[in-house]
Amino acid sequence: MYTREKHRKSFIRMDPDCAICHAPATHSCDCEAKGLEAAVQQAELRMMESVYTEIRTWVRAHAQDYILEYFRLLTERRKAAHTDHVEQLTASAYHYYHSPPHPGQLQAAQAALKRGIDEDWQSSVQRYPEVLEYFFGLVEMNLPQKTTLPSKIRH
Ligand SMILES: [Zn+2]
Repeated sequence: MYTREKHRKSFIRMDPDCAICHAPATHSCDCEAKGLEAAVQQAELRMMESVYTEIRTWVRAHAQDYILEYFRLLTERRKAAHTDHVEQLTASAYHYYHSPPHPGQLQAAQAALKRGIDEDWQSSVQRYPEVLEYFFGLVEMNLPQKTTLPSKIRH
């Protein structure tokens, strides 16, 4: 093998056989790469699942609080506008007709308020993707600069 290495007597080519299928290294099978990938996934699942759960719970709670607060602000503004509108209806009804506003007018105002609140809720809920991304973006993950193996892993 490798006759061109003849003049370098100290060089011994000795790549180990595949640890899984025992084929010689020259076969370059992908058992080891696949095995490593599977081991990484298993370790990730074991070690990171609780971290993912914790992050997800935190992000979800903060996103929900944010959306509910946003919705509260929108509806507060809308209810204030509705109150002003009804006051105007009442004032002009008394001014022109010396009577309370027509029930139909009040019903229409009430229905518009209901539609508006439904729209506010829709546009609040539609913000979830953006708000979730924002809170996921606040999570800090740190990779250590240096590592030392604990004695139980050292040989
Ligand atoms: Zn193999």
